Amino acid sequence: MTARPIAYIDEKNCIGCTICIDVCPFDAIIGAQNFSHRVNFKECPGCKICITKCPTDCIKIKNIKEDKSHIKEKVKYNFERRKLRVENTKKNYLNSIENQLKKII
Ligand code: SF4
Ligand code: SF4
Repeated sequence: MTARPIAYIDEKNCIGCTICIDVCPFDAIIGAQNFSHRVNFKECPGCKICITKCPTDCIKIKNIKEDKSHIKEKVKYNFERRKLRVENTKKNYLNSIENQLKKII
């Protein structure tokens, strides 16, 4: 069995800023504002994007003995779901701006 990288959060240094949740392309991080966060390693392919954004440097990478094929489908699904959510949020935002403008112009 091959090893693969995953991210993990040193919870005692996490300030619960939620930045990592916002940037994770695979929805692999769980947490609420002001509470420490966690990585769901079954959904994390170890892309390291969250590490570069964490303001307290509390996200690290470690290797686990598990093949990537175990998570492939879930990771793909999460990526597509997130993409759709981001697109819908953008669309709703633009619609709301347009509606506001119609009222004042
Ligand atoms: S970015 Fe870092 S400090 Fe902020 S919630 Fe995530 S792990 Fe915690
Ligand atoms: S390493 Fe990538 S997939 Fe894993 S939690 Fe961080 S941003 Fe998400």
